[in-house]
Amino acid sequence: MVARFGQRYIVALDTPPEPLPGGPAPTLAEGNASNAEVDAIGRGRHQDIVVGDRVHCSREPDLYVIETIEPRRNLLFRADTTRTKPLAANVDQVAIVFAAQPPSQPEFLWRALLAARAAGIDALAILNKIDLEGPAAQMAEAALEEVARLGARTLRLSARKDPATARPLLEAQCRGRVTLFVGQSGMGKSSLLNLLIDSNLRTGALSRGGTHGRQTTTATRWFSYGSDGAVIDSPGFHEFGLEHLDSQHLTQWLPDFAAVNAPCRFADCRHAEEPDCRIREALAAGAISAERYAFYRKLLAQEPGATVSKVWR
Ligand code: GDP
Repeated sequence: MVARFGQRYIVALDTPPEPLPGGPAPTLAEGNASNAEVDAIGRGRHQDIVVGDRVHCSREPDLYVIETIEPRRNLLFRADTTRTKPLAANVDQVAIVFAAQPPSQPEFLWRALLAARAAGIDALAILNKIDLEGPAAQMAEAALEEVARLGARTLRLSARKDPATARPLLEAQCRGRVTLFVGQSGMGKSSLLNLLIDSNLRTGALSRGGTHGRQTTTATRWFSYGSDGAVIDSPGFHEFGLEHLDSQHLTQWLPDFAAVNAPCRFADCRHAEEPDCRIREALAAGAISAERYAFYRKLLAQEPGATVSKVWR
C-alpha cells in the first residue's frame, strides 16, 4: 500500500493490471507514480493498513479490495498529544533530516532515533544546509557528531546549495533500501527527496481529485526507487512523541545507557532516586551527558497521554 486518502488506498501492483475479460481497462490511480497503481478499499473494518504494508487484493469490476495484510517486518510509530500513529511498515532505515535553520533542538533527532531503535530499524541522520554558518550551524554539527558516537550512520550535505555533491551521497545510502524520511518542517526534506525522485511526479502523487475536491495525503507516501528500493515521504511534523514506548525498556534503546554494563542495586531501578544506581554513577563520571540524562528523565516522567489503539498493540 503506497498511500491513503481517507478511506481510499492506493496499491502498487506487482504486475500492471490486465483488463478483465470483456470489461473496461482498469483505471490507474490519479497521480499514479509507477504505472501499476490502482485505487483500493479495505474489506470491512480494515483501519490498520499502513503505508509499506504488502497486501493481497481481490478484483471487483471497477475496484480492488484489500483482503489481507502480510505480517510486518517492522512498524514505526510516533505519538502526538492524543494518539499513537503508525508512520510506515517494512522499512529498512529511517532517514532523519535536520538543519541549523529553522533552529532545531537535538531532541527531535534523539526521539526519532529512539523510535527507530525501539522498532528495530536502522537510522541515518542527515544534516542538511551545511552551507549555513554561525553558532546554530556549529550546534547542528555537534548534534550530528553526538548521534554518530551513539551509533547512527550520518550524512552532511546541502540539498539546495550543492545538489551535485548531495545526490550521489544520498543515492549511495538509499539504493536498494526502503527509506522512510522524517523531519520537522523546513529542514529540507522535500529538497532531498527531489534529488531522488522526479519532483513533478512527487507533487502530483501527493494530491488527487475526489468527490470533495482535491485531497492531499496527510500521512505518508511511498515511491519506488530503482528496481528494489523505495523512498517514503512523511509530512513534516513538529514533535516526535514517544508516549507509546514502555519506559522500562528505555535504557536498552539509549545506546549510552545500554553501554553501562554493571547492574544497579535494584533490578527494577529507574535510575531516578534509587541508591547504588550505575546510570547515575556513569552520569557523575561524565560517561552519560547531563543533557542526555535530562532527556531520559523527561521520557520517564511523560504522562501516558497518547492512547495506543488496540489494533497496534
Ligand atoms: P521541508 O519542509 O523539510 O520539505 O523543506 P523544503 O525542502 O521545502 O526546504 C525548506 C527551505 O529550506 C526552503 O526555503 C529551501 O530552499 C531551503 N533549503 C533546502 N535545502 C537547503 C540547503 O541545502 N541550504 C540552504 N541554505 N537552504 C536549503
